[in-house]
Amino acid sequence: MTTLLRGRLLSFKRAPQGLDDTDSYTYESDGGLLIENGIIAAIGPYATIKAQAPGDVTEVDHRPHLILPGLIDMHLHFPQMQVIASYAANLLEWLNTYTFPEECRFVESAHAERIATHFYNELIRHGTTTAVAYCSVHKTSADAFFSEAMRRNMRMVGGKVMMDRHAPQGLLDTPETGYDETREVIADWHGKGRNHVAITPRFAITSTPAQMEATAALAREFPDLHIQTHLSENHDEIKFTGELYPEAIDYTDIYARYGLLGPKSLFGHAIHLSEREADAMSEAGAVAVHCPTSNLFLGSGLFPLKALARREKPVRIGVATDIGGGSSYSMLRTMDEAYKIQQLLGERLNPLESYYYMTRGNAEALSLVDKIGTLDTGTEADLIILNAAATPAMTLKMEVVKSLAEELFLLQTMGDDRAIAETYVAGKPMKSILQ
Ligand SMILES: [Zn+2]
Repeated sequence: MTTLLRGRLLSFKRAPQGLDDTDSYTYESDGGLLIENGIIAAIGPYATIKAQAPGDVTEVDHRPHLILPGLIDMHLHFPQMQVIASYAANLLEWLNTYTFPEECRFVESAHAERIATHFYNELIRHGTTTAVAYCSVHKTSADAFFSEAMRRNMRMVGGKVMMDRHAPQGLLDTPETGYDETREVIADWHGKGRNHVAITPRFAITSTPAQMEATAALAREFPDLHIQTHLSENHDEIKFTGELYPEAIDYTDIYARYGLLGPKSLFGHAIHLSEREADAMSEAGAVAVHCPTSNLFLGSGLFPLKALARREKPVRIGVATDIGGGSSYSMLRTMDEAYKIQQLLGERLNPLESYYYMTRGNAEALSLVDKIGTLDTGTEADLIILNAAATPAMTLKMEVVKSLAEELFLLQTMGDDRAIAETYVAGKPMKSILQ
């Protein structure tokens, strides 16, 4: 099965150094993208690609829209679709009042399956083709999450949360059951379809030292797996972790002591890192995952994205929605808030950088850039079609837009799911078939 998409193609080669850094991306104003069996087979000027396409190719003309790699969300919580928009003073109140009670419901398979259907519908509606998710503590939630990913053939990363203290009884495992059930999830789902299982201790507050030891054992046994957890989100949280692990130098050192600080480690938030922690993250190649709408919503703080990226020892960075602490499923809305956070810090996040982070940057942070995040030949055809005139107000503004960067900035500043004209997963249009 061969498809030829026509439109304006944009794909990044590396992180842009400024608005005039045209070597950092490829742009075809009348481009052709040839897809064979879900893989990008050729990319270039439309006329060139058309000439080499088979005679029976199915053509889809997406002009005047942009065609980009599918968006990647590096951190969100699958069981929190009904937690989003909860009124709380801060992280710890939000967890105890809304989040933990809601996650208890995921022990029921029927509930987990129903939410999984909605979860993937929202990802596709918002142009997110890969996401890195926390399930609940229950294996049922991971089963629902991965089976729905397989049904839709999406490349997803997820993990059964491990947590054995400081939460309601219905959300606690033990060092033994957390270890055993994570192994079962790996056996059942890792490498099936396009699934990746991540080792997922929720954070240091909800895991005892004994459970952290079990997590360390999993990390040793499965060195290729991603590890995801939370780090340095909120000052009360940081203080509490220090009391729980008095032997550690700081919060980052807690994870380092259990062998959880490495190049496949994804740390949600990491807002308030000390210089020592940033050095340790950099040396380990660990990833700090910026969740702007969540950080603003919970009043957690301003993530120093630009400062971390330009350090002598730079910290690898990903970007994410953090549903349900985050307030939008849209990566466009997310980068709009990321931009504003840098403004408050006296920094500039240019639109080319934003789109790099949502696509190739997150794929690099996941060590998956050979598969997703670009329009390179041989990679998987997960794509979005972006319409910069999706609303009357955007159409009016587009009348005065003169450059690609201005168009991208308009899409980021005013766009949401309405700007995603189509979402392709492995070469198949998925948004237009949503109910
Ligand atoms: Zn989170």
